[in-house]
Amino acid sequence: MRYAEHIADLVGGTPLVKLNHVTEGVAATVLVKVEYLNPGGSVKDRIALRMIEAAEASGALQPGGTIVEPTSGNTGVGLALFGQRKGYKCIFVCPDKVSEDKRNVLKAYGAEVVVTPTSVPPEHPDSYYSVSDRIAAETPGGWKPDQYSNPEGPNSHYHSTGPEIWADTDGELTSFVAGIGTGGTITGTARYLREVSADRAGGRVQIIGADPEGSVYSGGTGRPYLVEGVGEDMWPRAYDPSVVDEVIAVSDAESFEMTRRLAREEGLLVGGSCGMAVVAGLRHARTLPAEATVVVLLPDSGRGYLSKIFDDGWMSSYGFMRERADETTVGEVL
Ligand code: PMP
Repeated sequence: MRYAEHIADLVGGTPLVKLNHVTEGVAATVLVKVEYLNPGGSVKDRIALRMIEAAEASGALQPGGTIVEPTSGNTGVGLALFGQRKGYKCIFVCPDKVSEDKRNVLKAYGAEVVVTPTSVPPEHPDSYYSVSDRIAAETPGGWKPDQYSNPEGPNSHYHSTGPEIWADTDGELTSFVAGIGTGGTITGTARYLREVSADRAGGRVQIIGADPEGSVYSGGTGRPYLVEGVGEDMWPRAYDPSVVDEVIAVSDAESFEMTRRLAREEGLLVGGSCGMAVVAGLRHARTLPAEATVVVLLPDSGRGYLSKIFDDGWMSSYGFMRERADETTVGEVL
């Protein structure tokens, strides 16, 4: 018989899939790493597991403890999954721009969710950083993983995501592309891929970051954008900019349009940060020859965004569908 002891044991080992239809003008092979196939539905299962195991080993997290984390949802699901298995209570603090669908998922896993305003600076007492600090300090046995500064975030990608990509491409990939939120994914994966490819005949793997327009990583001021889980208004310790060769800024409109195309044309129902990463990946891939192989990491599923990115009314309320609507009108008049 072949079975897992627990659903949480199935983290990682996600597949690479080729993009075939959204790749107009691209000669290179573009592969995506489908992280929604992790048991909690996102790339964040990887860091949740490693952060908890390290905290248990160091004694920071004791039996019966409570995990308190500011999270836009995905890290919460990963933590809730392992918390549940290991008997820890979970309290998550989410900014109010996070969709209700996502918050309900956290509650479904048995976690408590505290909602804070999105539009306050990080040092404000009502920011999700400050509120989670306060709850962690006031809760007996409280432990805050702090994905923004915990080195086990990047480490989990150094030990899993990077080696998986290197093995699955037989060491042939040319570039790796990922969105930057805490920066953990790109930092850990890049450290591994740069290290193993350092002396390769074809040259080192290029590392490309994708960032929402307005975020600090691509030179913005931290002004608001709608794509969730990526971009920042401050520089977290989990992000090491020195391992990234280029950061490409992508608008909300481009990110969401590509997210919808991925579902309709590639059968990939993924989140907005995935559309963003693919836009950056394709922009980069257009500069490469046919022998090149680009791997783009897709962090999560589109199911958490059905009432936003995949809802025509929501999209047009932000003006994102205007061009398409105009095209239709012209078509109808003709
Ligand atoms: N996309 C989504 C949907 C996310 O939740 C996250 C995590 N914040 C990211 C991308 C970025 O990953 P990282 O934090 O590792 O940079």
